[in-house]
Amino acid sequence: MERFAQAAETVAARSGRLEKIAGLAEYLRQLEDDDLVAAVRFFTGRPFAARDDRTLSLGGATIARVASRLWGFGDAELRAAYRATGDLGAALGKLVRPPSAMTLLPAESLAPASLARIFDAIADIAGKNANARREAGLERILRTCVDPLVAAYVVKIVTGDLRIGLREGLVVDAIAQAFAVAPEAVRRAVMASGDVGAAAAAAKRGTLADVRVAHGAPIGFMLASPISCAPSYPQLAGNAWTFEDKYDGIRVQAHVGSETVRLFSRTLNDVSGSYPEVTRALADLRCEAVFDGEIVAMRDGRVLPFRHLQARLRRKRLDDELLREVPLTYVAFDLLAVGDALLLDEPYVRRRARLATLVPSNGGISVAPFAHLGEAADVNALFEAARARGNEGLMIKRADSPYVPGRRGKWWYKLKRELATLDAVVIAVEWGHGKRSGVLSDYTFAVRDGDRFAAIGKAYSGLTDAEIAELTRWFLEHKLPDSRRRINARSHEIPVRPQVVLEIAFDVVQKSDLHESGFALRFPRIVRIRDDKPPEEIDTLARVREIYDAMLRRESGDLLAVDRQPRRRSH
Ligand code: ATP
Repeated sequence: MERFAQAAETVAARSGRLEKIAGLAEYLRQLEDDDLVAAVRFFTGRPFAARDDRTLSLGGATIARVASRLWGFGDAELRAAYRATGDLGAALGKLVRPPSAMTLLPAESLAPASLARIFDAIADIAGKNANARREAGLERILRTCVDPLVAAYVVKIVTGDLRIGLREGLVVDAIAQAFAVAPEAVRRAVMASGDVGAAAAAAKRGTLADVRVAHGAPIGFMLASPISCAPSYPQLAGNAWTFEDKYDGIRVQAHVGSETVRLFSRTLNDVSGSYPEVTRALADLRCEAVFDGEIVAMRDGRVLPFRHLQARLRRKRLDDELLREVPLTYVAFDLLAVGDALLLDEPYVRRRARLATLVPSNGGISVAPFAHLGEAADVNALFEAARARGNEGLMIKRADSPYVPGRRGKWWYKLKRELATLDAVVIAVEWGHGKRSGVLSDYTFAVRDGDRFAAIGKAYSGLTDAEIAELTRWFLEHKLPDSRRRINARSHEIPVRPQVVLEIAFDVVQKSDLHESGFALRFPRIVRIRDDKPPEEIDTLARVREIYDAMLRRESGDLLAVDRQPRRRSH
């Protein structure tokens, strides 16, 4: 792992994209196959392949406890190290003590592949004393870390955050450069296999073309850019477009295999167990394919308001009565693979044509109707018609659009009433007051600004007691020791792992020095917890600026670009 850590440092020290790629490529080229597979996964910030939904179940508090037991530092030292670095891995790296002769086990040298094997063993731990056995596994890893830099990176891998400015795209480019193959071919292999490690091994062996779709490996979701209702739509000029309803449900990618059906949420988690009737309907298709679509509550051909779906999601146990009361339908709108062939590069209309041949409309599954958008079409009338059908708005997709996983680009647009809400991530929490004094009910939230999160406000209201209690448990397990971003000495903020995404409604965006984003929200209130959205996809500082500019324009009597209603949907 020494060479891994040095390569990571090299990448971190280089600021340009090309330099980072070259530094990483040089390291990857020297690795044996099994170290290569593990190292590239680690460089994408994951202990396992993306398609692998196992976790290590080792939170920051646990890691700090095991490390302190091993290296004998106290809370104050940890806090100081954390304050100086702002990162648990870097902080613990500073606190590594050489093992005493008493504790020295026979030297176990850690390479990416052997570390991956210990991760496998930890992830497989279940049953009695699972936590203690996981901690023992972590201790075994940390014991081998006599080098501070190695310790820092091993902890960063365990926490899933390398913080060296490397995204999966750069790792893909580095693999391509290391083995002199086309980045596009590597990217496709990553998407098909759901594993950057498998793609790297294939790139090295020259077998990228042989990588087929691994059913059950979720593919990143393609996202849409918002456009506002307006008299004309210049964004749509010069290309052929299609339109369909924007359903107010839950986005789900369905992997239908000959034996199994697996459903994945936006966060790429397996949610098959939550929608048994959808899983059954898809199994009846008797095909092998990957679909993209939306699960909606539907009765007599009409979409029910989102709250019906929400009520069902809240229930832990699904009884037959509930399944009858809130019948679900999977509305498919895209086809990503058939058999073991990936269709992402086919134009949208062709994918749609193939989709229609696979899915008969029956109770549990249907295909979203779509049509070409004529040049003279009245987009606003189509939008109103979609709303009248009980849907949230309109999706407008370019007829020749490839499926671009994880991207919000100019291929897909979403048209809904522009709403003054932001999806933000909680970065710090505080104990509440009065009847909330025993729970963490005050949340500091942030928007994304490049690779960092910039605080924009605090919210106290909007969640139910049950939700707050559940979040309190989660925050306590995921608090970070301390942070450089304490706002002032009086603050009782407890920094937490930036993971919980909230939709925040507010009245106005104002410029303000109070928060590091440079903006503040007036009357912020929590609309809902967005379990379906990962923190990488929350709103950005650029979006806040857009809303701010739109509000200024409105104040000066310009086109009404943002209205004050919070989102209708409240899951
Ligand atoms: P929103 O909060 O507006 O749902 P989002 O940030 O969750 O947006 P976007 O990709 O920006 O996600 O907007 C598209 C979303 O709309 C998808 O995630 C999906 O859940 C939903 N959707 C509903 N109908 C469709 C459709 N026909 N095609 C694509 N996405 C659709």
